[in-house]
Amino acid sequence: MINTDILAIGSGPAGCTAAIYGVRSGYKTIVLCGASHGGQLVKTNDMENFPGFVDPISGYEVMDRIHKQCSRLGVEFMQETAVKIETGARPFTLHCASGLQIAARAVIISVGACASRLGIESEKRFMGKGVSTCATCDGFFYKNKTACVIGGGNRAVEEAVFLTKFCKKVYLIHRRETFRAHKVSVDKARAIANLEFVLSSAVESINGDESGVKSITVRNINTKVLRDIETDGVFVAVGTRPQTDFLKDSGVELTSGGYIVVNEKTHTNIKGIFAAGDCTNSMYNQAVIAAGSGAKAAMEAVSFLNEDC
Ligand code: NAP
Repeated sequence: MINTDILAIGSGPAGCTAAIYGVRSGYKTIVLCGASHGGQLVKTNDMENFPGFVDPISGYEVMDRIHKQCSRLGVEFMQETAVKIETGARPFTLHCASGLQIAARAVIISVGACASRLGIESEKRFMGKGVSTCATCDGFFYKNKTACVIGGGNRAVEEAVFLTKFCKKVYLIHRRETFRAHKVSVDKARAIANLEFVLSSAVESINGDESGVKSITVRNINTKVLRDIETDGVFVAVGTRPQTDFLKDSGVELTSGGYIVVNEKTHTNIKGIFAAGDCTNSMYNQAVIAAGSGAKAAMEAVSFLNEDC
């Protein structure tokens, strides 16, 4: 059993910022990294909306800098995945997949959200064999090839633009005419010669054989006409879902969509347990907001610990 004052579960912008505030308040602070060290931000390419960086910077570099900052301040990182938390008594006991247990006086849940799927059978069949949820991770395999990106949010537009840098041709397939993505990003994308927008189109199937993906079939939502697009790869960028399965029987209140219910001070329904970042809402999944809410959660955790002494 390892003991800590503050345990931040999740190593994205929310968990790391919480840890910075926790450790600088004089409390022993551990960050649990889980499977996706650095969170979703490491998959983001050119960020130009994170304050403090004059030129675009990759999400990977931002997280790398934040991790180094945490380490310099004395935050401990542990490569462990949370599978269960006991909330009936304090300190809380966190169980990790490895069998390790951590006793924490205050917990900040900052597990983020992971990539959603289209939910069609052929997506499952070709996942990892031509279908991917991360262009930053897998885009390299499509050099001089054709790729399709599905979605109309910031991630889809960003991934499509990223892929145009080395793919011969990229299709951005979106089920509506208008985008959730920032207008400035969409306008920039529209100007790229090897990027074609396929709008008002829903994916019917991803087609291929044992060697991988060969094409995608989309249906125009207005005309109902089917179109086959030859492609070597499909990148699914249709939003995110919270990674809160391990909280199911913990007593921590979740919404029907699995997001953690918090008040405006980041408090969950259990005293001493706070939550921050993308696992608490589905509207403002921005790194800067996750970082801000992490800071807020840590300040609340510190007040709680100060009173708890
Ligand atoms: P998002 O903003 O939620 O967009 C998801 C997109 O996928 C929407 O366009 C949605 O279509 C579409 N979609 C959802 N389910 C679908 C389905 N079954 N079939 C086809 N299309 C489907 O998600 P995101 O782009 O992953 O971004 C997540 C969050 O991170 C957002 O808040 C985003 O702003 C943020 N983010 C920010 C940056 C940045 O600021 N640089 C970069 C990346 C992500 P509809 O529009 O029709 O619902």
